[in-house]
Amino acid sequence: MPEGDTVLRTARRLDRTLTGGVLTRTDFRVPRYATVDLAGQEVRGTIARGKHLLTRIGTDWTLHTHLKMEGSWATLKPRQRWPKAPHLARVALTTETAQAVGFQLGIVELLHRSDELETFAYLGPDVLGPDWDENEAARRLRAQPERPIFDALRDQRNLAGIGTMWAAEICFTMGVHPTSPVAAVPDLVRMLRVAHLKLDQAMARRPPVNAVYGRGRATCPRCATPIQRIEMGEEARLRPAYFCPSCQPVRS
Ligand SMILES: [Zn+2]
Repeated sequence: MPEGDTVLRTARRLDRTLTGGVLTRTDFRVPRYATVDLAGQEVRGTIARGKHLLTRIGTDWTLHTHLKMEGSWATLKPRQRWPKAPHLARVALTTETAQAVGFQLGIVELLHRSDELETFAYLGPDVLGPDWDENEAARRLRAQPERPIFDALRDQRNLAGIGTMWAAEICFTMGVHPTSPVAAVPDLVRMLRVAHLKLDQAMARRPPVNAVYGRGRATCPRCATPIQRIEMGEEARLRPAYFCPSCQPVRS
């Protein structure tokens, strides 16, 4: 599942591909916008807000997309063949010099530019954003002291950009068991600094090297104890949490 670093990389690629171009064709393949046509409007830019992508079109519109589990944006030459089956496309934007096609996107939504700020106001500080503020993120986390840290880190209202993979990796680096309550984390601000550093490094080097995430059959790179996997989160939205039981003892 794409997290903040992947989304920011996608935003920059879309920005390079489309910004300054005038749309010659738009193709929304979601029922709600099937009749929308933004041809003739200039693409003003694409930015990331946490795990959300915002493509600004003309003076009035912002195309909000989210990759969720399987989504991706392909950036191509105008008549280049699409890398995935057409039925998986949710939106295609074409200019005279390029096309961008969003496949299997979890969200495709057209917002009025004036609603953009309010729509994303609920998000916490963006780990990779210019507004990153570790103290504000810590304040938001501490507001729910009993919440398991793994779930709290993934809650985009606390900080934006962290998903299942980075939450596991951050807990491992800090030696904190994923079920530990926020209040039991020894140094929350340092943990948030680690979060920022990890995503920042992932922007420069890919793919990231996982110590525990997705390594349920492997052993801990530090102590060789078999890595464990548990399901965490709220009811219908369970996510796997990977950890080393030896390096990450349960704290309460
Ligand atoms: Zn270990």
